[in-house]
Amino acid sequence: MDFDKSKKIYEEAVKYIPGGVNSPVRAFKSVGADPVFVKSGLGSKIEDEDGNTYIDYICSWGPLILGHSNEKLLEDIEGILKSGISFGLPTKIEVDMAKHIVDSYNAVEMVRMVNSGTEATMSAIRVARGYTGRDKIIKFEGCYHGHNDCLLVKSGSGAITYGVPTSSGVPADIVKNTIVCRYNDLEDVKKAFEKFGDDIAAIIIEPIAGNMGLVPAKKEFLEGLRSVTKENGSILIFDEVITGFRVSYGGASEVYGIEPDMACFGKIIGGGFPVGAYGGKREIMEMVSPTGPVYQAGTLSGNPLAMHVGYKNLKTLSENKDIYSELEKKAIMLEEGIKKNIEELNIDATIVRFKSMLTLFFGKGPFENFDDVQSCDTEVYSKYFNEMLSRGIMLPPAQFECMFLSTALTDEDIEYTIKANYEALKAIY
Ligand code: PLP
Repeated sequence: MDFDKSKKIYEEAVKYIPGGVNSPVRAFKSVGADPVFVKSGLGSKIEDEDGNTYIDYICSWGPLILGHSNEKLLEDIEGILKSGISFGLPTKIEVDMAKHIVDSYNAVEMVRMVNSGTEATMSAIRVARGYTGRDKIIKFEGCYHGHNDCLLVKSGSGAITYGVPTSSGVPADIVKNTIVCRYNDLEDVKKAFEKFGDDIAAIIIEPIAGNMGLVPAKKEFLEGLRSVTKENGSILIFDEVITGFRVSYGGASEVYGIEPDMACFGKIIGGGFPVGAYGGKREIMEMVSPTGPVYQAGTLSGNPLAMHVGYKNLKTLSENKDIYSELEKKAIMLEEGIKKNIEELNIDATIVRFKSMLTLFFGKGPFENFDDVQSCDTEVYSKYFNEMLSRGIMLPPAQFECMFLSTALTDEDIEYTIKANYEALKAIY
């Protein structure tokens, strides 16, 4: 495979953009490669500037559940653009979108649109603090909720990959109200409540963690969080930026049968456009300005074009709910194929799957928390990534991320991926 054009663009990019990229994980640094610059995407595949094609398991980190350049989403995009790009005034599509989210997610009675997952979690925390009149929050080691200051403590995703789980530039004063607990460890949370119960505004959690590799929460753990927050008058926030509309139409909340007080969304609700949202019980959401005293705003929030594409994405999913079982079937096929390869080659690797999300951990497991995943062999992951890339498979360029499947993946794509996985593992071990 030839990467000459990507390399040339990268040389230019590093002159003008820190690390040459607009989000750290895209730099491919942790897998010892140079970034591939993408030119186009169609269905299950993307093509880079050199004309190499890849079966894509990044899917823009989750939003593209229907694959690249999905015709339905793009249907009347020109017409929408011609009627105006942005007004900074309300439009009907924002109301359609809000109603759709409220109708699909049990715990959400009102919702506010923002422009990213980061804004969604930042705003949800502010509202929870405003509503409870308390300052402290609990987050979990290895969970990533975007890059807002108070949540950038022991974070996952690019933050662990680049060895800065707690970012420089975040004042100690700002994170003094952030309590970090172990994922899947209810006792640790109870201890925090014994010590600080009356001061804890909220727990925020990825109910299926996708940012330390894929680590689903145990049901009893989430049930415990529900009880402990209720008993102590704290808000339970599910960060469903990844899982909302992915693991099922009603998100992780529906899969586990647990209702949080608030939820955050992003990714799929924008269909590839910069969209986020936070919502919750009416009484909590009425705290938000202009009905309440918690200020939150956005010049481009509810942008008409983004709303149109996001709304179409959600409508397509809601009108074709068997998409979820079909996606899971594909994911099981991939999981089983990789499992078989691992057994046949007798290597220390574990494939973890939840619905249409997967991570291949280079370690024995079990993987239940941040410490567990850190025992993985990231050097082997690096080699694996590069072996797969050279066979036309685009995987997340870091061990602590997960693969996202799209409905555009064909059985042939999956069979090819399983074959490439076998060859790649064989080349490494
Ligand atoms: N929450 C979760 C669970 C995420 O995975 C992410 C991003 O990957 C965010 C929040 C932040 O979203 P964004 O990158 O749109 O700011």
